Amino acid sequence: MNTFKEFLKLSKTRKRKLANNTYLVVRDDGGLGIKLHATEIVIFYNDRIELNSGGYQTVTTKERMNRFTPFAVTQKNFIWYVDGLPFKDGITFYNDGRIEGVGVDPKETLKLIKKVKQYAINYANAFANGEVLKPNNGDCWGCLFHSEGKTVIAKEEHVLNHIEDQYYVPSMLARMFNAGTMCLYVKDVICLIWNKKAIFNNDCVIYPDMVKNQIAKSIEKFCMKELGLAS
Ligand SMILES: [Zn+2]
Repeated sequence: MNTFKEFLKLSKTRKRKLANNTYLVVRDDGGLGIKLHATEIVIFYNDRIELNSGGYQTVTTKERMNRFTPFAVTQKNFIWYVDGLPFKDGITFYNDGRIEGVGVDPKETLKLIKKVKQYAINYANAFANGEVLKPNNGDCWGCLFHSEGKTVIAKEEHVLNHIEDQYYVPSMLARMFNAGTMCLYVKDVICLIWNKKAIFNNDCVIYPDMVKNQIAKSIEKFCMKELGLAS
């Protein structure tokens, strides 16, 4: 099932669940949305189809887009493509062949990803040098609080600024504590250091490289997500 007609037919029935956490919703504007969690990742209209990851470029989002649209959504080097065109939230395919909102040249995105990776490594090194102190209210607010509901632009902006300024915001790391990117040992080390019960040296930290690697991975993931990039 991947056309407006088919979903319109389904919308007249009582069946709305399409897959795990995935539902068909009837919109006030005449569109039909495929809703995954809180995001309408596909919206069908009579004359067009709109795609939107809601900032969650995950395997599941991609799978649902592939399953419920006529398009092929693929990923290469962190970048999403729809039928070979760079993806961007809001990209719209009209029935008459027009396409609006195509993503930027992947070369620019790859450059940005390179910067993010370097920033994440620098962040981990700064942490090891004792330059990343415990999070506090003086941190960037965009990093301190979940940015759900805010526009994607604002989300992107603060992260781009931090990368530009090489400002290693402590709450970025704190926000990743439950993201599954750090093991208990690494979290322990971070807490001990933030509470000034340890310093980053050979006596206190047995696996310094592991700690740094996991910090870098966490920061990378945080930034990628805030920037709306696939990870
Ligand atoms: Zn920030």
